[in-house]
Amino acid sequence: MTGRVLIVDDDDFSAALLAARLEEDYYDVEMARTGAEAIDFLTHSTVDVVLLDVLMPGMDGFEVCRRLKADPATQTIPVVMVTALDQPADRVRGLEAGADDFLTKPFNAIALLTRVKSLVRLKHTLDELELRVGTVREINMRTDRDNMPLPDTRARTDDDPEHILLIDDDSSTGPMIEAMMPGRVELSSETRDALMLAATGDYDLVIVNLALTSADGLRLVSQLRTLERTRAVPILVIIGPDEETRLLRALDLGANDYLVRPVDGNELAARVRTQVRRKRYSDRLRFVLQKTIELAVTDPLTGLFNRRYLDRHLPALISDAQRRRTPLAALMIDIDYFKQVNDVYGHDGGDAVLTEMSRRIRASLRGLDLCCRYGGEEFVVVLPDSDAAQAAAVAERLRARVTESPFSLGPGRGAVPVTISVGIAAIGPDHMTPEALLKKADQALYEAKRSGRNRVVASAA
Ligand code: GH3
Ligand code: MG
Ligand code: MG
Repeated sequence: MTGRVLIVDDDDFSAALLAARLEEDYYDVEMARTGAEAIDFLTHSTVDVVLLDVLMPGMDGFEVCRRLKADPATQTIPVVMVTALDQPADRVRGLEAGADDFLTKPFNAIALLTRVKSLVRLKHTLDELELRVGTVREINMRTDRDNMPLPDTRARTDDDPEHILLIDDDSSTGPMIEAMMPGRVELSSETRDALMLAATGDYDLVIVNLALTSADGLRLVSQLRTLERTRAVPILVIIGPDEETRLLRALDLGANDYLVRPVDGNELAARVRTQVRRKRYSDRLRFVLQKTIELAVTDPLTGLFNRRYLDRHLPALISDAQRRRTPLAALMIDIDYFKQVNDVYGHDGGDAVLTEMSRRIRASLRGLDLCCRYGGEEFVVVLPDSDAAQAAAVAERLRARVTESPFSLGPGRGAVPVTISVGIAAIGPDHMTPEALLKKADQALYEAKRSGRNRVVASAA
């Protein structure tokens, strides 16, 4: 995967060198000679990565980085600070300015391409996730009149200590790295044990020392990338100074970054921090996406699925039942004289009854039953693997649960007796459309209402 890179450097020679190396790997390269020019460029165009020189006349790299990270339009564009090799303090300042990574001059081609590739990959993932969040939000707005509450984005923050798994059997580097890391490090020196830990623990980062003597470190990297649980966890490998071939292989297998022995403390801390920060950002985005999707298919008052979800999901449930030759039944449930509850106790009282009703319905069902709020005071329950007789038993149990005690109207506001009417329809071996099933259940419900309410009626056929 290639991408678009913006090189910001006042030194034409150094910029041309970088550009040539990136173009060799088919990246599209853009150039800016000052910070102001770069910011101006990014207001009307975008890139996947910015390579930003620290020392420039006028606005220096730190300031440019700070401005890019402060503007919502540009803050998700990864920034790599380009510094001189002998300036470790620059790295700290760069990270403080919000830089995502750094590179030292003169360039090492592997370091350059590893960092750029990893950041382009990250940018594409984030763009994709953000797009999905946006689409789901848009659907919500178009179909729901009431405003959806925004999802809670509190996940782990960047300030929480890192939780790191270090896989190393060298008795000197392991404890040394443990001592260098401010966060929580677990050291594992045995491969099988390490894989178990990685698959069950909640790690922000896995560090693999490729100098493992008891196991093949490269195989371990590949296994970590295959395991469902660790697929998204960043991997940092530690490698000897003359092991370029193995390093390239490790990066190919999915390692995100590397450190060369002897490990420098500042370098380690900075690499760990950037990897962890990236992981947490995409975790947060995924979490928001999950919540946003949940909101799109959930009724905010009762927490039950909404009608939109039923409409989307019922066809799949029916074809599944038909394929497996199992029955399926639906209950259409309507609260009796609900308008009176609203009239006497107000809309809040009515809402309290709806909430309590959803609780009692849920308590009467199995885990695989689908329950949704179909309309104002109407609920639909879909019972896979159930015929009409079994559905009638469920409905009777629910009706009894509703009448056995009055519904609370909220603290200190008393309680009100409630009854329901239920219509049942079932699908046997013959095909039936979702619409036909719901229509039959609705007709049975109408019959239950007509014949006196507080009762269960099954559809004739
Ligand atoms: P029946 O026994 O025939 O079902 O009579 P009913 O009064 O229950 O039926 P009707 O359809 O006449 O009234 C339903 C009422 O439900 C009217 C509407 O104001 C109320 N309602 C719909 N959605 C909500 C809601 O979200 N909250 C509250 N409090 N009331 C709602
Ligand atoms: Mg009603
Ligand atoms: Mg009604």
